[in-house]
Amino acid sequence: MTKYAHKSKFDNKKNKAKASWLTFFYVGNTDDVFSENIRRVFIINLFASVGVLFTLPLGIVSLIEGKAVLGSALILIAFLYAMNHIYLRHTHNHALSGNFVIYPLYALMIYLVYTGGVKGTGHVWIYCIPAVSLFLNGMKRGMIELGFFTLALIITMYFTNSHFAEFGYDPALKTRILFSFIVVVFLSGIYEYSMSRFNQELKETSAKLKLVAYTDALTELLNRRGMLQRLETSSYTSFHLLLADVDFFKSINDEYGHDAGDYALTQLGKIIQTSLSEGDLAARWGGEEFLIAVCDCAEPEAFALAESIRRRVEEYEFAYLDHKFRMTMSFGVATMNETTSLREAITLADNRLYSAKRAGRNRTRRS
Ligand code: GH3
Ligand code: MG
Ligand code: MG
Repeated sequence: MTKYAHKSKFDNKKNKAKASWLTFFYVGNTDDVFSENIRRVFIINLFASVGVLFTLPLGIVSLIEGKAVLGSALILIAFLYAMNHIYLRHTHNHALSGNFVIYPLYALMIYLVYTGGVKGTGHVWIYCIPAVSLFLNGMKRGMIELGFFTLALIITMYFTNSHFAEFGYDPALKTRILFSFIVVVFLSGIYEYSMSRFNQELKETSAKLKLVAYTDALTELLNRRGMLQRLETSSYTSFHLLLADVDFFKSINDEYGHDAGDYALTQLGKIIQTSLSEGDLAARWGGEEFLIAVCDCAEPEAFALAESIRRRVEEYEFAYLDHKFRMTMSFGVATMNETTSLREAITLADNRLYSAKRAGRNRTRRS
């Protein structure tokens, strides 16, 4: 027992550590990691943190080496990135925050290429630009900004009085820097494109799976899980529940076959669905049980709706292959409100439904 207690304690600690890291990077928003906005928040924080970790020590080293302007610029950027995380945490304004990360970075890179950085090594840092820009801005805006950055790079290297020659570099190096940068842009673009396609497909598949998980395949109404999810997350604090069960459904299956039973359930689903107003919900609650939820109306109206569906079913002639048959349904109506919870209301509707059954079926009970 102690062995497992120790293990679960360890797991808890590990989970807590993981959760706090995720909270740090997602700024407390870990619900839907597929959302573009959440992805942006995550990436801004990740790059900002990496930025602080690299620029701060490099800035201090530059200051020690007597490069006051470069050192101050690096430390200023580290400070900006740290402030950015705090700003993002408080405002969740990732659009502005993203710009805080990327534009100082573009400027710093051009500055490094222009001055040569520490002993002419400045240009080696430009290769981090494509990844940051594409991750942060996505394919379209990222590529446009990278185009402008490449242009700025060409102007800085070829058309300004940059400090390249001071370090005794071969002139061919400029061309190599430019072409290797374009190759990295190209490869990062392909990666970003395939990642965003993959992400899109994942999002679509996830939406489809959610739909399948919450829908009844036969009637295309919500299933029990879908209905509970909708009711539990509803903004309404009060709604009426109409629980309906087909009378003697077993005999339909026995007499006309299971397929005829399935057909009857599909038709019932349609009758119910077409009887509802916008905002009302209907679900196949179980085998031949349906649950309807109506909001924005008084209890007598909910009762009247149950009665109207009951009568429509009673009057409907089901026709399957050569078989023609009729069916009836019994209803139990209950209200969920401040004093009656959802579970209590469902139980109440269920009790009333069975009281309708005991009273002879094909009727609605509201008390
Ligand atoms: P009662 O009036 O008391 O409700 O009688 P009943 O015969 O409707 O009640 P019971 O619960 O005994 O039978 C329900 C039947 O519904 C049993 C089951 O075979 C049938 N059933 C459940 N799900 C399906 C389904 O998906 N398709 C078909 N065809 N039949 C189903
Ligand atoms: Mg039944
Ligand atoms: Mg039943």
